[in-house]
Amino acid sequence: MPRRKAAAAHPKTQDPRPKTTPDELWMEEALRCAQRALEAGEVPVGAVVVSDGRIVGRGWNRNLNASDPTAHAEIIALREAGATVGNHRLGDCELFATIEPCAMCAGALVHARIKRLVYGADDPKAGAVASVMQVLNHPRLNHKVEVRSGVLAGRSAEMLQAFFKSRR
Ligand code: ZN
Repeated sequence: MPRRKAAAAHPKTQDPRPKTTPDELWMEEALRCAQRALEAGEVPVGAVVVSDGRIVGRGWNRNLNASDPTAHAEIIALREAGATVGNHRLGDCELFATIEPCAMCAGALVHARIKRLVYGADDPKAGAVASVMQVLNHPRLNHKVEVRSGVLAGRSAEMLQAFFKSRR
């Protein structure tokens, strides 16, 4: 294989591929949650809440099976995290979601006082971080959240596209 040969010829050449960061590793876990939703016939969205290097909450969409309009992945993950941490404030936690949270979930993130949000794909139809409206970090709100977007976005978008294509 030419690539291996080149690497052997220049053993000190740095690997040009971007390093896998912890953000990507947690997002992998959120994608696994999205996969669980997909297997249950739900819109494939997943979320995990991380505190101090461990997962304290996991969620995936359950709207259809639970007949619950509020059963978004992020809400379920936040509920589990609150129960695990023993506090309704999650100021030391980060939430990883496979797509940009909607207005309901962004509102819940503010109520939870979440420290940081990392998400995958943008949601041009319902995203309430940047795409449709700005609930998170709204200038009139005191609570500020650190946001990183676009993490493993392609994989999250692919899963959603495959789901909606299969339902047509
Ligand atoms: Zn939502």
